[in-house]
Amino acid sequence: MNYHMTINGQSVAGKETFDVINPADKTVLAAAPKASIAQLNEAVDAAKAAFPAWAALSYAERRDKLMQLADAVEAAGAELMQSLTKEQGKPMKGFADMGSGFEFGGTLAWIRATAGYDLPPKVIQDNDAARIEVHRKPLGVVGSITPWNYPLLITVWHVIPALLTGNTVVVKPSEMTPLTVLRFGEIAKDILPPGVLNVVSGDGEIGAAISSHADIQKVVFTGSTPTGKAIMNCAADNLKRLTLELGGNDAAIVLADADVNAIAPKIFATAFINNGQTCAALKRLYVHEAVHDQLCQALTDIATSTKTGNGMDDDTDFGPLQNEKQWNIVKSLAEDAKARGANFLCGGEVTDDSGYYFPITLVNHIKDGARLVDEEQFGPILPIVKFGDVEEAVKLANASPNGLGGSVWSSNIEQAKAIASRLECGSAWVNHHAVVQPDAPFGGVKASGFGVEFGEAGLKEFTSIQTVHIYA
Ligand code: NAD
Repeated sequence: MNYHMTINGQSVAGKETFDVINPADKTVLAAAPKASIAQLNEAVDAAKAAFPAWAALSYAERRDKLMQLADAVEAAGAELMQSLTKEQGKPMKGFADMGSGFEFGGTLAWIRATAGYDLPPKVIQDNDAARIEVHRKPLGVVGSITPWNYPLLITVWHVIPALLTGNTVVVKPSEMTPLTVLRFGEIAKDILPPGVLNVVSGDGEIGAAISSHADIQKVVFTGSTPTGKAIMNCAADNLKRLTLELGGNDAAIVLADADVNAIAPKIFATAFINNGQTCAALKRLYVHEAVHDQLCQALTDIATSTKTGNGMDDDTDFGPLQNEKQWNIVKSLAEDAKARGANFLCGGEVTDDSGYYFPITLVNHIKDGARLVDEEQFGPILPIVKFGDVEEAVKLANASPNGLGGSVWSSNIEQAKAIASRLECGSAWVNHHAVVQPDAPFGGVKASGFGVEFGEAGLKEFTSIQTVHIYA
C-alpha cells in the first residue's frame, strides 16, 4: 500500500521516504513519505489560507463536517485497526479488550463527543451602563505533534477541538507510527475543505520546524519531557501558545484496608494498559505491608495467565514494545533492578526476540532510588514498593519530578479522597487509575507539562479571549 501526506486537500508523496517497522517481527511494513521543509511550509501556507473561511463558519457547520468525518473514519474501521496493530504492536483485541479496537472506539467516541461542544459568547454585564461580552476566537494555524503509543487517538485529541473552535491544523505523527494517521488525513481530505487539515510525516526535524514556524500560532504536543522543553524553546519567537502533555511516573498508594480481590484486576489492567506504554499508566505501586503479599500474589496470578505475542494473533493479550529504543530501556531497567537484588515475581527475561517482546514483569523488594522506581518505564514492568507509614508513601509519591496522574486504593472512600487530594498530579483517582473521558479535563503538572485536554477546558486552549465592551 502507498502512503501519502495530505497538503492543501491533495495526496502528496515525499521526495524521500523512511521505513516503518513492524515491531512484532522487525520487518519493514511500509515506506512512509518524508516531508521536506518546503512541503511543511506548503502545508502551513495552505492552513493559513484556509483559516478565514473555516473560522467564519458557525460551530454547527463545523460540527456537521466533524460528524461526517467520524462516520467516514468508522466506515474505514477494519483497515485502521489492522494498521494500528501492525505499526504500533498492540493486539487487535488484547487484554480486557484494550487493543486496537479500544483505541479505535475511543477515537470515534472522542470525535463525536468533542464535536458536540459549543463556546458561545458569555455576557458578564448587561445593564444601563454597558454590555460586556467575552468571546472565544480561534487562534489561526495549530501544529500538532504526536507520539507513537496511541497514534490515532492522540491525533483526534489534538485535532478535533482545534478544528471545532475554528482553527486549521498541520499534524505531524510520530515517525515510528505515521501510517494510520496518514490514512486518517486521506479520509479527512474528502470531507474537509482543502488546507483545513494537513498531515505531514517526518522526524524531529519537522517537529522542530513546526515549533519555530512563524505562521503557526499554537503547538499541541504529546510526548516526552525533553522534547516538550525543546518545543518550548522554539516557540518563544512568535509567542506560540502551547499545550504540553509530557511524560509521567504515576504512583498508586494501596492502603491497609483495601479489598485486594476487588482491586487487583483494576491495578493490573491500568498498569499494563497498552503494554505499559501509556502516559498515565500506573507506574509505581506503593502497597501497605498489611496487604502487600496478598496483592503481589493476586497480581502474579493474573500476569501468569496472560500471553505476550504478535498482536495479529487472536489469543494475544499483550503485543511487543513499539520500538527498539523503548525495548532497550525496559531491558536495562530490569537489569538494574536485578543488580540491586530486587525480587522478580514473574517475567524479567526476554524469551523471544523475533520482535520487541518483553514479558509482563512484576518486581518487589525494591525501593525509591532504583531506576525502575525513579524513571518512567513506559513498558510492561511494574515496581511494587512496600510501605508501613502512609505519610511516607505520600512523600515518595510526590518526590517524582513528574505529575501526570496518581491514585489511592481503599475501602474508606473519604480517607482515600483526602489522601488523593494531596497528590501532586493533574488527575487523581480513587480505586481506579488511567481512566479518561471526553468531558473530564486531563493534563499534567510539574515536568508532566501544562494545559489540559478534553471538555470545555480543553476546547478553550485553542482560543483566545476577546472582550467586547458595548456602550449606548
Ligand atoms: P518523543 O518526545 O520522542 O516524540 C514525540 C514526537 O515529538 C514525535 O512526533 C517526534 O518526531 C517529535 N519530536 C522529536 N524531537 C522533536 C523536536 N526537537 N521538536 C519537535 N518535535 C520533536 O516521545 P515518544 O517517544 O514518541 O513518546 C513517549 C513519551 O511520551 C513518554 O515519555 C510518554 O510518557 C509521553 N507521552 C505522554 C502522553 C501524555 O498525554 N502526557 C501521552 C503519550 C506519551
